[in-house]
Amino acid sequence: MAQLGTAPDTLRPAPILRFPGCGAARLHLSPPELAGTELEKLRAALDSGWLAPAGPTPAAFEAAIAATTGHAAVLATTSGTAALHLGYRVLGVAPGDEVWAPSMTFIATIAPAVQMGAVPRFLDVGPSWTLDPALLADELSRAARRGRLPRVVVPVDLYGQCCDIEAIAAVCDSWGVPVLCDSAAALGALGRGGLHAGRGARLAVFSFNGNKIITTGGGGALASDDPALIARARLLAGQAREPAAHYQHETTGYAYGMSSVLAAVGLAQLPTLARRVTRRREVFATYLAGLGDLPGLSFIPEPNWGRANRWLSVMMLEPTLFGTDREAVRRALEAAGMESRPAWKPLHLQPAFRDASFAGGRMAAQLFEQGLCLPSGGAMTPAEQARVIEVVRSCARR
Ligand SMILES: *Cc1c(COP(=O)(O)O)cnc(C)c1O
Repeated sequence: MAQLGTAPDTLRPAPILRFPGCGAARLHLSPPELAGTELEKLRAALDSGWLAPAGPTPAAFEAAIAATTGHAAVLATTSGTAALHLGYRVLGVAPGDEVWAPSMTFIATIAPAVQMGAVPRFLDVGPSWTLDPALLADELSRAARRGRLPRVVVPVDLYGQCCDIEAIAAVCDSWGVPVLCDSAAALGALGRGGLHAGRGARLAVFSFNGNKIITTGGGGALASDDPALIARARLLAGQAREPAAHYQHETTGYAYGMSSVLAAVGLAQLPTLARRVTRRREVFATYLAGLGDLPGLSFIPEPNWGRANRWLSVMMLEPTLFGTDREAVRRALEAAGMESRPAWKPLHLQPAFRDASFAGGRMAAQLFEQGLCLPSGGAMTPAEQARVIEVVRSCARR
């Protein structure tokens, strides 16, 4: 039983994940972490009499997210994917419209648009591992000449690292194309001028999935500086029910509002965000110090325009210099009871999108071939991380 009313100063691993069954501990990639005040917030939510995706608890969570990111308006949703879907809907995506996204991302970035009948086009990433604004500018002018601009451009804050939203928004603005930023993994990350991830886009999406830096078990948020867009998304998230005594609908919507129970968990976790970012950055710095000298091994860069939340620590292994490839290292870690995972397989290489068009070179493909995400949880102990480093070092050419 978690203590009620105490503000803990360390993050607690969710016990079940750390000790699956009663067997040996397995070190996970990014396990959920508890703030310790979840039960207190849950009790308050239950005492309020509201369980539905309405009432004081989701409203308080939305206000807390807005205070964190600086957005004017926020809608809490059942998932980040649901928030993306609502974003596409309020931006008017229709069958046949093109939607452009970086290829180096999770499928959820684009899946709702494809399900709405949009045509995806994937762009390569630049040296920052995020959408390359120069490539985007070229492609947009080409598309304008063809008379077929995308309906939406969806950059991604990869692994909690802000894309160059200022440059991306500037080029999109010049063509009148709205930007929906997939900041699902970037809560607590900062971009240029200290602005929070997702600011500068028309709409931004966050996720509170079980493996993200803040979790409600499952959940997401759609945020904007335009309250009218969020009001429209809120209507659609509640089955497009118009304000009337009877059930009145001018269109169809979704059941996408976050329940009060989950919002309570988020309310408990959000005040610990700064500490979580600090911890994940320490984890990254420890990997850099422990592995950075190995030939052929490099880490996800932190571009000069931002401060990543280091949701995941990702390294690249160049096999001829390192001595073996990322798959051999992944297997060695697995054998030692440690979970690691290849970087995203680019969407233009996914069988689901075999007909989609792609612009760019081999950056995304190379990140997949050589990229490995290491255990990155903030509750990982120094001894556990030392073991990860030891196993990776043991794979290197000697
Ligand atoms: C986690 C994630 C999502 C999806 O969020 P859910 O809450 O799991 O639906 C979308 N995009 C990226 C980049 C993510 O990391």
